Amino acid sequence: MLSNPSLTLPLRKGGKAEENYVGRFAPSPTGPLHFGSLITAVASYCDARAHQGQWLVRIEDTDIPRIYPGSEEHILRSIDAFQFEPDAEIIFQKDRLDIYEYVIEHLHQQGWVYACQCTRKMLGSNHIYAGTCRDLNLPFEQQAIRLKVSDQTICFTDRLQGTHCSNLQYDLGDFVLKRRDGIINYQLAVVVDDYLQGMTHVVRGADLLDNTERQIWLGSLLGYPQLEYMHLPLAMNAQGQKLSKQNLAQALDLKRAPELLQQAIRALHQPEVDLDIPENMLKQAIAQWNTDFIPHTTELHGSYL
Ligand code: GLU
Repeated sequence: MLSNPSLTLPLRKGGKAEENYVGRFAPSPTGPLHFGSLITAVASYCDARAHQGQWLVRIEDTDIPRIYPGSEEHILRSIDAFQFEPDAEIIFQKDRLDIYEYVIEHLHQQGWVYACQCTRKMLGSNHIYAGTCRDLNLPFEQQAIRLKVSDQTICFTDRLQGTHCSNLQYDLGDFVLKRRDGIINYQLAVVVDDYLQGMTHVVRGADLLDNTERQIWLGSLLGYPQLEYMHLPLAMNAQGQKLSKQNLAQALDLKRAPELLQQAIRALHQPEVDLDIPENMLKQAIAQWNTDFIPHTTELHGSYL
């Protein structure tokens, strides 16, 4: 098991070494939070609390060029406006780059990573990397760093989506942990932080389903325990696209927090909650929380803004 005493994190309140349930909300500040993000926040919060678990917030901001000005602030204001109560100080991945570099170095020593000079242009339309640079032994400076995968099929059972499998070599290929421009890839940061924050459960959008086998693979190479996953059906707009900044999803209007919260709870097909201050609405939603009611699909019916 990889451990380094310098990898310290804010202590969770009442932090015990063994928790039955630690969950999280991990938005990327690539745009202000929208209704789809609210669904994820509500589901991850209610699921954690309904299991008497802890709920943490982590800002996934390693991809500096994609940070949208003001969106980190909007995320923090949203957490307050909806009266979510994180169980530890919020962490920012951009403050933790030395930790991810340390993990890459560890994987390097074990022979699991290599430098890759292939540009996007060279890869063309091949979505699955053929391993061209695997045995070239290129120096690590100013190159992308890829993780080797092997010819194995990884399966996991998602709490909503059922069994999901991918063959690492034929469906996914060796994948990038650090880009040529030095940016740490989401796959690495998410796996390392889920482990270091003691996460047991991941609740997130179904758009991330196909990343899960890569994350399980990386976690297994690092000796981390496997997590429980629940991938939520996505809220779509009138054009049938998932809500996102690219599709011009509306930023959450924090003055309308109670109404939006009620709509998010409805979108998750949970029993109705009364309009009230968000704290009370969340309490009611937690008391009534039942994941059997959430559609076991990757998209929600209807359209959202
Ligand atoms: N940061 C990712 C996003 O905003 C979510 C990561 C995760 O939940 O694993 O899409």
